[in-house]
Amino acid sequence: MNATTGQSTNVLVVEDEVHMQRFLRATLLANGYQVTEATTGATAVMHATRHVPDIVVLDLGLPDVDGFAVMRELRAFSNLPIVVLSARGSEMDKVQALDAGADDYLTKPFGVGELLARLRAALRRALTVKTGGGEPVFERGALRVDLGRRQVVLNGEELKLTPIEWKMLSVLVVNAGRVVTHQQLLQEVWGPQCVQETHYLRVYMSQLRRKLEPDPARPQCLLTELGLGYRLRADR
Ligand code: CA
Repeated sequence: MNATTGQSTNVLVVEDEVHMQRFLRATLLANGYQVTEATTGATAVMHATRHVPDIVVLDLGLPDVDGFAVMRELRAFSNLPIVVLSARGSEMDKVQALDAGADDYLTKPFGVGELLARLRAALRRALTVKTGGGEPVFERGALRVDLGRRQVVLNGEELKLTPIEWKMLSVLVVNAGRVVTHQQLLQEVWGPQCVQETHYLRVYMSQLRRKLEPDPARPQCLLTELGLGYRLRADR
């Protein structure tokens, strides 16, 4: 359900591969979503301008234009959530898509559970942004991060973070559940002149994990997305 209109959530599926189309259509319809389909970038943009969907599932490899061009066109008039589909092994595509404003990505092949979880997370974030949501408080297990009060509590004890650690954690909390790319994180925490300094991230991420993770070598919360960035796990 769309919490604003009370109608079922409309998903615009942009995909040219027949098997993937079938899988997406069947899965989404079976789970109460409405589905609009486009097999080219041009029809996707046309559908989206006539009737703005609640969320877009966008394949990056389309027959006419690439998914990035579609994303730019959609982003020009809407902040609607976009989850991109990419082929296994194309890490650069994912990074580029996330940096260009995609909310999340799915690597083919993916299962029903993963698809539905990513859509729910992207829709939830979009709703929080739309309704203002106030200063978010992130809670997962024994960890509680209160952005408004700048407070991190683990197992009932308040943790002391350095300013850089705090900034890094707060960027991940604002984006809880989604991948934040190395470049996005460096830009937000250190500024645009530092977007190449990925070693900063390794150093500060390991410090954060030592403070927040019961076993820093096997993080349960501050997850590494290989070749892409980091994700703060948001499921319970
Ligand atoms: Ca394709």
